[in-house]
Parts: sequence; C-alpha cells; structure tokens
Amino acid sequence: MTQYKQVESVHGLGRREFLKLTGIGTLMLATGCAKNPVTGESQFMLVSEEQEIALDKQASPHQFSNDYGAVQEASLNKYVSGVGMHLAKASHRPDMPYNFRCLNATYVNAYAFPGGSIGVTRAIMLELENEAELAALLGHEIGHVNARHTASRMSKQQGMGLIVGLGSAAAGAFSSGLGSLVSQAGGFGASALLASYSRDDERQADDLGMEYMLRGGYETEGMVGLMEMLNERHKSKPSALEVMFATHPMSSERLATARAAAAGKYATSADFKFYKERYMDNTASLRKIAPAIDEMQKGGKAMSKKQYGQAEDHFKAALKTAPNDYTALLMLSKCCLVQKKDKAAATYAVRAAKVYPQEPQARLVAGFTKLRIEQYNDSLSYLAAYDKMLPGNPYVAFFKGLSHEQLGSRDAAANEYYRFLQSVKKGNEAKYAYSRLVQWGYIKSQIQVPAGDPFRLLKA
Ligand SMILES: [Zn+2]
Repeated sequence: MTQYKQVESVHGLGRREFLKLTGIGTLMLATGCAKNPVTGESQFMLVSEEQEIALDKQASPHQFSNDYGAVQEASLNKYVSGVGMHLAKASHRPDMPYNFRCLNATYVNAYAFPGGSIGVTRAIMLELENEAELAALLGHEIGHVNARHTASRMSKQQGMGLIVGLGSAAAGAFSSGLGSLVSQAGGFGASALLASYSRDDERQADDLGMEYMLRGGYETEGMVGLMEMLNERHKSKPSALEVMFATHPMSSERLATARAAAAGKYATSADFKFYKERYMDNTASLRKIAPAIDEMQKGGKAMSKKQYGQAEDHFKAALKTAPNDYTALLMLSKCCLVQKKDKAAATYAVRAAKVYPQEPQARLVAGFTKLRIEQYNDSLSYLAAYDKMLPGNPYVAFFKGLSHEQLGSRDAAANEYYRFLQSVKKGNEAKYAYSRLVQWGYIKSQIQVPAGDPFRLLKA
C-alpha cells in the first residue's frame, strides 16, 4: 500500500491532526452603527441583524454536532425549549429565531449563537436542581443575544482597517463555513463565535437573565442557586467546567451581585416558583444515566492528559451503563483512533452512526476511520452522507479526494482536491492537494484557474 501511508508521511496528516483540526474563522462585512436593543443607545456595530442570523445558521449546526447533537429524547428537548421560549418571548428581542436544545455533550456548558440558537449540555442539566435555575441559565444566554454581545465583540475586534484588508477573503470565508471537523476528543470544541465574553458582558447578561426570569414568573433566587452550583463545581471538578468558565468568566462578584439583585431589584412575589418537581420529572431519564455521564467526563479528562488507556476504560465503563450512548461510542472511537487502533475506531464510529442516524458527526468519524483502514468505498459513502447532512466543512472534500485517489479515480480525486482548495489555501492538506493537481497536469490543462488565481497563496 499504499499511497495513503505516503500521504501521511508527505504531509503529516494523522489521527491527531484529524482530531485537532478546527476550521477557519468567519468574517463579516461592514454595516455601521446601530441602536442597542437593550439600552436603546447607539453602539459601534458592523454586524447587521440579518448577518447575526446568517452567521448563526451557518455556524451553530457545526457546533451542535461537535457537541454530539441534541439528545434523542424529544420530550427533554421540548421541555428545555418550552422554558427557553417562554423567557425569549419576554425579552427585548422577542422576534429573533430562537431555538433551544439539550446537547449530548458531557462537559458542563451552555452557549448562545448571535441569532438565538442556544444549547445546554446534559452535564449541566444534571447539576441543576430546579426549573428556576434552568431559567437563570437560559435567561443569561438570551441576555447575550439581546445585548448583541457577539456582534459587538466582532465589530470591535475587526475595525474598519482589518475589514478592508480582508476584502475578497471575507466573501469566500462567509460561504465556506466554519470547517470544524471533529472537536478535541474531550469534547471541548467551542467555535470562534463562542470566544469568551467580557466581565461587563457577563454582568449585563446576568442582569438581563434575572429581568426575564421575573417577567416569566420565576423565583429569581434561581440565579443565585445557579452561580453557587457553578462556583462549587468549579472547585470539585474543574476540568468539566473549563470551557464554561473560559467563555463565561465567573467571579465571586457575580454571585454577590445576583444575591443582592434577587433580594432587592428583582425580589419576587410569593407566587413566583422554583418548580423543582417539574424539573426533576422532566430530567429523570438523565439522572438514570448519570454514572455513564460521569465516566465520560472522566474519560474526557484523561484524554486531555493524553492518558488514552485510562480514557478508553472510562468510555467502556460508560457503555456498560448506557450501551447505546452516541457520545460514549464516538468518544471511544476517537480514543481508539488516537491510539492507532483504527479497526476498533471504525467499529465504534459505525455503531454511533447506527444509534443516532440523524446526527452528522458519526458519519465524519466513520468516513475518516474507514479511510484509515483502507475501505475507501465505505469512506466515500459516509463522507458523502455527512456532507449532505452538514454541508460547509471543506475537509470533507479533501478526505473524499484521498479516497478517490486510492481507488484510482484520478478525475474524481482531482475534482475534490480542487473543491477543497477553493476553501482552504494553507496547510499541509492544501499543499498536498495542490501538488497532486500539478503532478497530474490538471491545473494547466483541464481546470481553468479563475481570475485572482486561487493557488497564489500556495505558491507564495
Ligand atoms: Zn455568559
């Protein structure tokens, strides 16, 4: 064999690179100033509401898939969504296209995209004690959407000079998508849009969250409970909360402010409730598999310390409690992949694809692992299925190109490499794809290089 081995040595694409590859950032075009929906004041804003929604639509499906998709249990998503929509309708931007889901990921986190796509993980759901705490968590995220924190941060970061400088690159990046492949195996894969908020943003989101809780009839002490839990868990299992604390800076000051606000500004009437029983009823199925989620958290932590053997044991222990858990199967697959157990990795990825056919990530991992074990036709069909379910990941074209190349279909391989190079112009994969096109004579003879020469960057 095999040219694939050659491929690996030529440009170094290996398991670890695959696991680590994250995509290109997304850039925006200039629009000007805008009135903040919460404060009513004019603010520096280069991102329009349409762009917030478009960005969300483009990036959030990739992030949600990185987090192993929404839980398969429809009633749990419906419950989270019901609480979220109730608060969103009471917010300053009630007409944004909000949508909520409980994600299969097993690290403690919650996040919002600028158009109102919001996710909370199974792990954080397990830590909450009542619906008011869930309302506090969702209210806080809805607060970020309402105060346009992501859009305002992007506007400040870019500035006019940078936007002009990026010129045509911006248009290309916008359509190519956040090409995130598989998040790091521990499950920490926050995309560029989820970079951290400032302390001022956090303060404002807390305040808005409590305002929406009050409007929605929730006991605002739920915010205090949420913060106490986060502070406590940060001490008892820091690794599971790493991302949450990196993106939403926590402080004792936030807790003190929430306490004062719950007792003062947002003091609720006696009718306002925590809804503890309703929360416990709706999340009972999660509590049944809590030991499995705990094992997956331990496995993720071991992976991040490169203790792969231990991680494998944890994922296998998780599968004993929850034999068809999509996340456990995929984490185990990636854990095998990184240990060069390619066959086992492929087996677990295929099983994951079977237990959750609607979720794309397993198809990507299955496609990649099938490529590793030289089952190129299988690889192609998984990659094609993934691309259909979740378009916008340019690396799919590269992997399809490699598969076609191994099968001896040079034209098909060249097409995929060319497609890949339209989105990705840097890195070893791009160099490899370009060198193949040159070697096979496609660039001069059969493919017309469009104006602006997309290969210019590679030659430089
Ligand atoms: Zn936050």
